[in-house]
Amino acid sequence: TAPELIRNFCIIAHIDHGKSTLADRMLQLTGVVEARAMRAQYLDRMDIERERGITIKSQAVRMPWELDGTPHALNMIDTPGHVDFTYEVSRSLAACEGAVLLVDAAQGIEAQTLANLYLAMENDLEIIPVLNKIDLPAAQPEKYAEELANLVGGDPDDVLKVSGKTGAGVEALLDRIVERVPAPVGDADAPARAMIFDSVYDTYRGVVTYVRVVDGNLNPRERITMMSTRASHELLEIGVISPEPNPTKGLGVGEVGYLITGVKDVRQSKVGDTVTNLAKPATDALGGYSDPKPMVFSGLYPVDGSDYPDLRDALDKLKLNDAALNYEPETSVALGFGFRVGFLGLLHLEIVRERLEREFNLDLISTAPNVIYDVTLEDGTEVKVTNPSEFPGGKIKEVREPVVKATILTPSEFVGTVMGLCNERRGVQLGMDYLSEDRVELRYTLPLAEIVFDFFDQLKSRTRGYASLDYEPSGEQTADLVKVDILLQGEQVDAFSAIVHREKAYDYGVLMTGKLKEIIPRQQFEVPIQAAIGARVIARETIRAMRKDVLAKCYGGDISRKRKLLEKQKEGKKRMKNIGSVEVPKDAFIAALSSD
Ligand code: GDP
Ligand code: MG
Repeated sequence: TAPELIRNFCIIAHIDHGKSTLADRMLQLTGVVEARAMRAQYLDRMDIERERGITIKSQAVRMPWELDGTPHALNMIDTPGHVDFTYEVSRSLAACEGAVLLVDAAQGIEAQTLANLYLAMENDLEIIPVLNKIDLPAAQPEKYAEELANLVGGDPDDVLKVSGKTGAGVEALLDRIVERVPAPVGDADAPARAMIFDSVYDTYRGVVTYVRVVDGNLNPRERITMMSTRASHELLEIGVISPEPNPTKGLGVGEVGYLITGVKDVRQSKVGDTVTNLAKPATDALGGYSDPKPMVFSGLYPVDGSDYPDLRDALDKLKLNDAALNYEPETSVALGFGFRVGFLGLLHLEIVRERLEREFNLDLISTAPNVIYDVTLEDGTEVKVTNPSEFPGGKIKEVREPVVKATILTPSEFVGTVMGLCNERRGVQLGMDYLSEDRVELRYTLPLAEIVFDFFDQLKSRTRGYASLDYEPSGEQTADLVKVDILLQGEQVDAFSAIVHREKAYDYGVLMTGKLKEIIPRQQFEVPIQAAIGARVIARETIRAMRKDVLAKCYGGDISRKRKLLEKQKEGKKRMKNIGSVEVPKDAFIAALSSD
């Protein structure tokens, strides 16, 4: 297709504002998917995506659309809407010339509406403001058209009003996309340059890489090379998705499609990288490649220790499809063999864990998530800590923790509440703006560690679900952080060590010692449970002694019954972990880590 007839666009929106549903309607109206083959959220192919109703991996579809008798090719790129996947969103945006900015007509602008709009503006995209869900009785299209027009600049009458559910206004939106989104421009005679904006592993075909061609042509059978790694491959297949993969004779300037080279690991075909011809390579890569950086770490252990090799295999397989997944083996006194896994954020953690349990049939326990700490010792040594139990014990000069810039949108009645929450979490206010009379944007710097646990839940519950949050990494800061250890009869239980702010150390100590006291069974002797910073004990509980003589229950006589009991006890011991001389059932650790 000639570049003048191509329009590349994406739909950006806050989560649940109806992106996937609108994409469904477009597929139907353009005839790409027949009505009877249609199912909700057609593009969300992973089971987890469908169940949770969220989009994790981006997808691109080509749709024909005629305006005034001229056929055009629209390439729609569906993007994930969650903060954990911002990097994927920004790569998808870089593949487009225009963005449909979708806002729920019953909700108005939310934090991710803004975050995505800013990303789109950084990529110089033409923004088409659209209100969705106008079929809802609670919709206030006039009010929010004004809010949206204020935000993007322009007239409220220019804001399109649609319903992804009923299809109302969607044809007009497709026309508007052809009219407003600029056609792609590129140099057809230059060496090929195509940007990778997504890359997925398919069991049968290996890695399928989604690209947007900027200059030149890519053709089947030629050798290509990845500019960041210099790895080269033969192009076994190239084509467009509409909505199933259709091989073509090549892709030219402005086109969006997929390629297959037979590689088996998505890390050989990385999002953000530039593809060029091996024979006639481009000199400059397309801008902006960066490796996804894990922000949150957690220990993952099989509940049954004999599943360890299966867990390792499962992680190796998942990594084929998730370039952001990082892991290293680790061992824990309490939990045995497992892995320290790095994630983009909490949602990423939950999704990985759920996929491991569901797709690989594993039963897992994860330790409390933590961020990465940079520690400088007094002798100048630098240490990176991804596991709290490895926090150095020596003389520490400085500890630095990652911080984020957070944007919170809230109805004005909750401003005080939200400020209170941010203060509790060591936030520093950067600014505050009224977007309209009753909607306020608050900007804060917050330690990432204070956000990764229950910040979002707290924000939602304290504002009755009305506030929304978005954040981006913003370097690090020094902080007064200490490691709190939990000791059973003087022995450290590694899985419960935590790095916390000095002012919150006592609370953590009291909470964990109390919890363990409830869970650990009595022993033959008294067992102290302590929380300590270095050698200083800050909280203490005691498990009282108990004489546990099971044989006393069988009065004399029945030898076989006695033997059975002894054997049963021996079985039980296998599931026990020894911390010093204290025997603790592994289940107790699991309960302590999973409750609350
Ligand atoms: P996404 O997270 O932006 O992809 O949002 P989805 O497309 O998954 O939609 C979120 C929810 O809103 C789903 O329950 C949809 O059925 C519903 N929804 C989407 N569009 C409309 C609409 O136009 N009208 C109504 N009433 N509901 C909609
Ligand atoms: Mg979606």
